[in-house]
Amino acid sequence: MFIALLNCNANIYFANLQKYQNSTGNTNTNNDTMEKLRADLHTFASIRDWRPFHTPKNLAMALSVEVAELTEIFQWMKGEESHDVEDDIRKHIAEEVGDVMIYLTMLAEAFDLDPLICAKEKMKLNQKKYPAPEILE
Ligand SMILES: [Mg+2]
Repeated sequence: MFIALLNCNANIYFANLQKYQNSTGNTNTNNDTMEKLRADLHTFASIRDWRPFHTPKNLAMALSVEVAELTEIFQWMKGEESHDVEDDIRKHIAEEVGDVMIYLTMLAEAFDLDPLICAKEKMKLNQKKYPAPEILE
């Protein structure tokens, strides 16, 4: 039952990912690394002279605002409705996920952290804190 639930969620995830990639024409490639994203963000901000405004405090606040914008999309939606949204809403979700990723990446960079490594390390801690239940046969 537990494994079936995981497989079901994974299938929904991959179906939605495929739908998003088909609608945007974007697929993640090996060229889209965290390192390249960090470099692109650094260049984008530098040529606009925005770097002085990117203090950790400001980046954390901007991240919080973008998470709120993402959350607002789902405000008042019923839980089941949030699984299958219209294409324009999916596009809006993608834009806000992008904003969140941008500010998260910039905030992490301010502390010389890689968000992917942070997530992997946190998953290890979570695995210890919340061990998988015994699977009944
Ligand atoms: Mg936004």
